[in-house]
Amino acid sequence: MSLLPVEEAFRRIIVSANPLARRERLPLRLAAGRILAEDVRATRTQPGFDASAMDGYAVRAADTAAPFQPLRVIGESAAGRAFGGSIGPGETVRIFTGAPVPEGADAILIQEDAERLSDDTVRPTETVRQGQHIRPAGVDFSEGALLVPAGSRLSPGGLALAASGGHPALPVVARPRVAILSTGDELVLPGEAVGPSQIVASNTFGIAALVEAAGGEVLDCGIAPDDEVQIGEHLDAAVADTADVFVTIGGASVGDHDLVGKVFASRGVALDFWKVAMRPGKPLMAGRLGEMRIVGLPGNPASSMVAATLFLGPLVRRLAGLPDRPLMRSGVLAAAMPANGLRADFVRSRLTVDEDGRHLVEPLPRQDSSLLSIYAAANVLLYRPPHAGPADPGAPCRFVDLD
Ligand code: AMP
Ligand code: MG
Repeated sequence: MSLLPVEEAFRRIIVSANPLARRERLPLRLAAGRILAEDVRATRTQPGFDASAMDGYAVRAADTAAPFQPLRVIGESAAGRAFGGSIGPGETVRIFTGAPVPEGADAILIQEDAERLSDDTVRPTETVRQGQHIRPAGVDFSEGALLVPAGSRLSPGGLALAASGGHPALPVVARPRVAILSTGDELVLPGEAVGPSQIVASNTFGIAALVEAAGGEVLDCGIAPDDEVQIGEHLDAAVADTADVFVTIGGASVGDHDLVGKVFASRGVALDFWKVAMRPGKPLMAGRLGEMRIVGLPGNPASSMVAATLFLGPLVRRLAGLPDRPLMRSGVLAAAMPANGLRADFVRSRLTVDEDGRHLVEPLPRQDSSLLSIYAAANVLLYRPPHAGPADPGAPCRFVDLD
């Protein structure tokens, strides 16, 4: 079987993925970071009244012309407690920030520009112009105005705006439900007794965190032994559970990929099995069962994490309605690199930023795909394209962010 270029595998998995049509209604407090499913329009006008922007005196601007004359203080307007009457010539009302401007007033004299002569008289020391320090009704938005468009990721500001517009809850795109199954007779859960030929299933936890960071909801299927019947039961359960994606880990390398592949075939999954031209993470399965997507990741920890970073994360982001983001950024090599072979190499590396703002990418010493200690120490994957020539320190490079 020939090697499939990384870009082609990415295209086949990602391009046909659209945001889920499913939506849910969430209270504002739970909606941060979610994708808005419908336009949000204002159910009210903000502010609903002409409001004072300062502490001071509501006046008729004409009454503040020099020579300054004392004004009669006839009442008070505070936030939440409007002055009921209206003011006439030579009159003023003590007012505070956010309070409704009384009828008859057309400006606010700030208190720093007012000299209080007695309990009920005050004299301006500056002239104000009409409209000064007044927030007119609707200056922020009017009833019916578009506040946040459908497809937006709900930011702290967007949530506050929706709240101000009178919405206690918002319709958002549902989180993709991603079932994750580890396969292997040798696997036990962290904390369980580990037998002489066993290891701890670690990938599930890394992949689950990656799925959640991409906007997905994880359905943890735990571990299945290398047994077709049991793997099949998990697949059926994921279908019954309306998972949007079913992810398998392991059982995909030469020799036993037929096991997971056979189960998929037995359920009618239209499955592609590819050897992707990349290192680590060569074997990759992708397909569909009805509406459910299938992604088969390799078992080796670094392989499964790299394959999930490149393919599963972007897929989940798409389904979640999040905008695509560039997979790679540019930097410079901090060390020499040898020529690369025919597979794209994703080298576990440390990214640092120097005083000049250069992104320096330093490959970590050991690259075996079973080494989680190295994977966890990396914060980027240095990308070495197929057939890249040797490169010196300081040469431009591209890298994939890991966190
Ligand atoms: P496989 O693809 O099943 O042949 O697995 C390749 C390697 O990855 C083997 O050494 C497995 O023990 C290991 N492996 C498989 N699944 C996991 C997992 N969930 N966590 C950690 N290692 C795994
Ligand atoms: Mg296995």
